Amino acid sequence: MIKPVDPALMQAAEATGSRFAMDAHWMPFTANRQFKKAPRMLSKASGMHYWDVDGRQVLDGVAGLWCVNAGHARPRIVQAIADQAAELDFAPPFNMAHSKAFELAERLVQISPPGLDKVLFATGGSDAVEIALKIARAATGRFKTLSFWDAFHGAGFGAASVGGEALFRSGPIGPLLAGAEHLPPFACYRCPYGYPTDRQGRPQLELCRLTCASLVRYVLEREGDVAAVIAEPARAVPYVPPPGFWQTVREACDAHGALLIFDEIPTGLGKTGRLFACEHDGVVPDILVLGKALGGGVLPIAATLCRSELDMGQDWAFGHYTHEKNPVLARAALTTLQIIEDEGLVENARRQGERTLARLREMRDRHPLIGDVRGRGLLLGVELVTDRADRTPASDAAEAVLYRALARGLSFKISLGNVLTLTPPLIVTDREMDRALDILEACIAETERELPPP
Ligand code: PMP
Repeated sequence: MIKPVDPALMQAAEATGSRFAMDAHWMPFTANRQFKKAPRMLSKASGMHYWDVDGRQVLDGVAGLWCVNAGHARPRIVQAIADQAAELDFAPPFNMAHSKAFELAERLVQISPPGLDKVLFATGGSDAVEIALKIARAATGRFKTLSFWDAFHGAGFGAASVGGEALFRSGPIGPLLAGAEHLPPFACYRCPYGYPTDRQGRPQLELCRLTCASLVRYVLEREGDVAAVIAEPARAVPYVPPPGFWQTVREACDAHGALLIFDEIPTGLGKTGRLFACEHDGVVPDILVLGKALGGGVLPIAATLCRSELDMGQDWAFGHYTHEKNPVLARAALTTLQIIEDEGLVENARRQGERTLARLREMRDRHPLIGDVRGRGLLLGVELVTDRADRTPASDAAEAVLYRALARGLSFKISLGNVLTLTPPLIVTDREMDRALDILEACIAETERELPPP
């Protein structure tokens, strides 16, 4: 049954300017509240760019949702996938195997923080997070977890249980996993405990004394039987942790027998200017989860790494993941890792991030709509506010900037309603980044002019 086109969809379609968007293209899909706007229909992608069906070029400012570290449709990755599929397309997960899956496991162990020696692959981040939860339960004999409000860890029942976004926890699906405790996350610009930041948006540790980390310690101590703390070491929304946060949490986990699981699905493999975001904090987790960029942005592959003492699956099974040792997925991942290394993309992310943050800070000085700029490497956020003093979120303005930028050829994502999240592929050049920032600034300036006077 074809439903009439929703007027709100029509309006959004007009804002994106695409005639194809007018057809309300979500029609064949199961309703899912996340997708409420008409899509811009894409026809191809290469390097830093998408092209839509009308031939317009868009600079991809979110790396295809944190997936495309080495750029879109990299010939080396595409060729490796084609070659592998032609040679051996599939290997079953148990009684037969192929060397590429072994090579990938060994490579990940080699490049990941010390002590993470065992790997299991899955085809999505949510599954990999749930493997991590199962390992933590099996290894500790406990079932409780401590995680953070506003986090997203995946759509499965287990992953959604440790996630902290109301949208994914509510509704008619009924109870989630028992024992999934939550705390407010670190979010210095909007500190949940009300502590102020300095003028640069940095935490004032002499005032707050890391209350956010102390509460993790408090809960672990009071509960006494928490299996694991699970979190993103740097939040993708983005928020970087206050200095000392993870050291305090690591010590608390050790003191109370809880494991530390880092979900590096968006941040891993170079995004923050180090191969893993946790390296900035000098903290090694017990379990590390990777996904998104691992498959080169082309194929879905995720990985759960853990210390060998936690490898508890001898007498039971996690269940089989059909594609867990798929040679094509493994080859895509190996080629992606090789490109990241060969082209120095981690270093590029670090350098571009520093340049961009400096320019964003200058933009903040010129534009009162910008309340905060923050990030690490190419995980960058520009938080819009209607009033800097009371930090009222400027969500409508954020949406206006997003659609203006899209019309001018730049895509990015809005997080938490009012944070422009810019996280381009790690191959981005000075020129491309400058162009992205020119577009962003022009759109912010235009949106500011439309705002009612204070
Ligand atoms: N964890 C984090 C931090 C994520 O950002 C995501 C995806 N947005 C996931 C887990 C889930 O990954 P997937 O969509 O591959 O299941």
